[in-house]
Amino acid sequence: MSTCLEYDPKPRRTTVAVDVGGVIVGGGAPVVVQSMTNTDTADVDATVAQVAALHRAGSEIVRITVDRDESAAAVPKIRERLLRLGMDVPLVGDFHYIGHKLLADHPACAEALAKYRINPGNVGFKDKKDKQFADIIEMAIRYDKPVRIGVNWGSLDQDLLTTLMDRNAAEGSPLSARQVMHEAICQSALISAELAESIGLPRNRIILSAKVSQVQDLIAVYSMLAERSGHALHLGLTEAGMGTKGIVASSAAMGYVLQQGIGDTIRVSLTPEPNGDRTREVQVAQELLQVMGFRQFIPVVAACPGCGRTTSTVFQELAQRIQEDIRKNMPVWREKYPGVEALNVAVMGCIVNGPGESKHADIGISLPGTGETPAAPVFIDGKKALTLRGPDIAADFEKLVIDYIEQRFGQRSAAE
Ligand code: SF4
Repeated sequence: MSTCLEYDPKPRRTTVAVDVGGVIVGGGAPVVVQSMTNTDTADVDATVAQVAALHRAGSEIVRITVDRDESAAAVPKIRERLLRLGMDVPLVGDFHYIGHKLLADHPACAEALAKYRINPGNVGFKDKKDKQFADIIEMAIRYDKPVRIGVNWGSLDQDLLTTLMDRNAAEGSPLSARQVMHEAICQSALISAELAESIGLPRNRIILSAKVSQVQDLIAVYSMLAERSGHALHLGLTEAGMGTKGIVASSAAMGYVLQQGIGDTIRVSLTPEPNGDRTREVQVAQELLQVMGFRQFIPVVAACPGCGRTTSTVFQELAQRIQEDIRKNMPVWREKYPGVEALNVAVMGCIVNGPGESKHADIGISLPGTGETPAAPVFIDGKKALTLRGPDIAADFEKLVIDYIEQRFGQRSAAE
C-alpha cells in the first residue's frame, strides 16, 4: 500500500495571547484580520467613515496614523464617534519619530488607542533612540496598552545592520548580505522586545512584526522569528503593490507562513487604485484565511472558469450576482442567520461538471452550456430539487438561495 502523505497545516505555533482592546491575538485564538486607514487622521469625518467601512467589511482591528498634534487630538473624537455608531473596534496608533511626545502631550489619545505600534528603526535618532523607545513603553505600561514592535526592512536600525555586516565580514565563511539583513531584522525585533520587557512591559502586551517586501524574505524572516520567540506575531508583506500583483504576493508569502503554523494576525497591504476601495485589503485577508481553511467569514461561491462549452455570459453574471449579493448582505445575515458563513453555493456552466459540483454544494445550479437543452437543474443538499427554465433563471436561483438560507440558518437561529 502506498504511503499516505499529510497535507494539513502544521499546528499553530504556541504564542503568548495579547488582548488588543478585547480582540485576542495569539495564544491559539483564530488569526485576526486587521487593516489600516489612508485618511488624514486629523480629518475626523473621513477617518471615522473609513474605519467604519473597514470594520463593516470585517477588519477586527484598525490602525490609524498618528503623526502630529492634530491627528493625536483627533483620536479620542474618532473613538467616541465610532462608539456612537456602535463600533467598538480597537484602534491602533501608528507612531514614528515623535510617538513619545505625542503620547505624553495627548493623554486622551493614549487612552483611546487600544495598541501602540512603534518601529524600532525610527523611534528616534542616535542617543535619543533608547530613551524615546523607553518613553513609549512606559506610556504603554501606564495606560495598560499592548505594543506592536514593528520592524520594517525599509527603516531598519542602521547601527544594528552595520554592526552585523562588520561582524559577518570578519567571519571565515560570511553569510550573504541578504542573510545578514534577515538576521538584522529578526534581531531588531527580538532586542527591542527584550528591552521593552526589561522596562516592565509584560510579554502578553507585546506583538512582533518584521515586514519585508519580497515573498522569500518574508518566509525567511518569519521562520527565524518563530523559531526564536514565543511572542504573538503580526504577518504582512509590506509594499505588496497594486492589484493582482499585491494580492498574489501577499497570498503566496502569508499562505506559506500560515501553513507552517506561524502568524496570529494578518494585514494585506494593498496599494489601492486612485480613489479605490480600501476595504479590498480586508476582503483579500478574509479570503486568504478562508480558502486555507483557517476561518470562515462568508459563504463560498464555487464557479467553474467557463470554456468553449459556454459561449454566453449567463453563468458568469449569475456567479457574480450571487457573490455580490452575499457580500452586501453579510453584515445583516451574520446577525440574522448564525452559521451562514459555512454555506457553499455552486454556479456551474454546463452539464460536464455542473451536476457533480452542484451536488457537493449546499445549493448549486448547473446552467445549460452551448447546444444543451435550455434547462438548469438545481441541487439542494446533494439532491436534484427542481429544474429552472425561461428568461428569469438568474433571479429564480437567487430567490432559491435566499429561501435556503432562511430555512436552514433562520430556523437554527430561532431554535437557539
Ligand atoms: S463545467 Fe462545463 S462550462 Fe464549466 S469549465 Fe467545465 S466543461 Fe466548461
